[in-house]
Amino acid sequence: MQEQTILGHPKGLFILFFTEMWERFSFYGMRAMLVLYLTRATSETFNPGMGWTSAEALSLYGTYGMMVYFMGIFGGIAADKWLGQKKAVIVGGVLIILGQFALAIDSLTMFYSGLTLLVCGVGLLKPNISTMVGGLYKKGDAKRDAGFTLFYIGINIGALAAPFIIGTVGETIDWHLGFSLAGFGMILGQVVFVFGGKHLKHVGNLLKHSETESHLATQPLSKVEKDRVIVLLLSFLIVIVFWAAYEQAGGLMSLYARDSVDRFVFGYEIPTSWFQSLHAFYVVLIGAPMAWLWLKWGKMGRESSAIFKMAAGMIIMCISFLALMGAVYDASVNMLGKAPIYWLLFSYFLHVVAELSISPVALSFITKLAPVKYASLMMGAYFAITGLGNKAAGMLGEYAQEAGEMAAFSIIAVACLLVGILLFFLVKKLKELSHGAEDLV
Ligand code: GLN
Repeated sequence: MQEQTILGHPKGLFILFFTEMWERFSFYGMRAMLVLYLTRATSETFNPGMGWTSAEALSLYGTYGMMVYFMGIFGGIAADKWLGQKKAVIVGGVLIILGQFALAIDSLTMFYSGLTLLVCGVGLLKPNISTMVGGLYKKGDAKRDAGFTLFYIGINIGALAAPFIIGTVGETIDWHLGFSLAGFGMILGQVVFVFGGKHLKHVGNLLKHSETESHLATQPLSKVEKDRVIVLLLSFLIVIVFWAAYEQAGGLMSLYARDSVDRFVFGYEIPTSWFQSLHAFYVVLIGAPMAWLWLKWGKMGRESSAIFKMAAGMIIMCISFLALMGAVYDASVNMLGKAPIYWLLFSYFLHVVAELSISPVALSFITKLAPVKYASLMMGAYFAITGLGNKAAGMLGEYAQEAGEMAAFSIIAVACLLVGILLFFLVKKLKELSHGAEDLV
């Protein structure tokens, strides 16, 4: 039977698109409120918070940010060994719903239980839904990368809307209502996933249950598979540097925007928090044109392997930090000590050009290279690495408090440049080690 498609992609992609859009809506909505809720005084008569200090709140935020992604390893193992990706997504979704509603109850025990449930839930859902996207495409299907870009746009629609809707309700009406909204968002995601199940029959099932592939579950890895795992692990190490740079946006760059950037545009001062939505906004704006550009670049016969795109992304990331250094310089020579806003807008834009050359590409790449029986584990390991990148980002931010922004931004620019150059040199070797999987762009 011919598979039904929309825009040339399997219908299942759109089920995963909307499920993940709602999951991210719930995730980023909760994240937008977390620090604000923690630091608001308990003595406030309107919408009191938990009365933590900023340092305590940021520390919990950092630990939570690392844990949710780190748990991806266990989410991946659970899917490969016991659940299969589809069931892992369902169980993860239920845990997320319970977690958000636990946060909606005003009690410290419920607060910590909620966070724990969210860490486990996201750990189960996030890597496994990403692996399922890859499962929709046959080996060598040129649409795979574009499918991941579409999926990534869905992620960012959720991320873009969440702070405006959930954040606003939480901050201006009631925190707990905000957390409940995040819970309802995930319920919608679950409904889409369960009702759209008929388009996902052939993906995300436990290997042992699928008869044609049953021998794969017990076979040891071949030489080719081992080589491909090496390529993946190497690229993961590199990806840490990218996320450590990218995640400056929520920390150091945000403080910089607040204190050292002239945010007046036509007489209106842009709130610092709006910068938090810039990434997602740019992804939705340029996600499709970027995917098209890379496709065209490849069709012109130019090198367009995943490793090459990642290398290009790292160089672009380096340029984005050069732009930030320009801002720091401008601020230092300005009488008021403020930099013009265009540096920041430009830097965020380049962040996203780099992100789109690395993040969805990496997801797609993993589903091409990972041995079938470790497919979910490899995806989980990737998310764990992004969690470490988050942690490194926080440490760099702390370093900047003593050494200054110029020092931190230049270290990041140099690190991105070096990794980019290294990757350019490794393209050929890593493609060889990928044994053809890499050509399937
Ligand atoms: N922003 C993307 C998302 O929310 C990527 C996150 C990541 O890979 N750590 O899915």
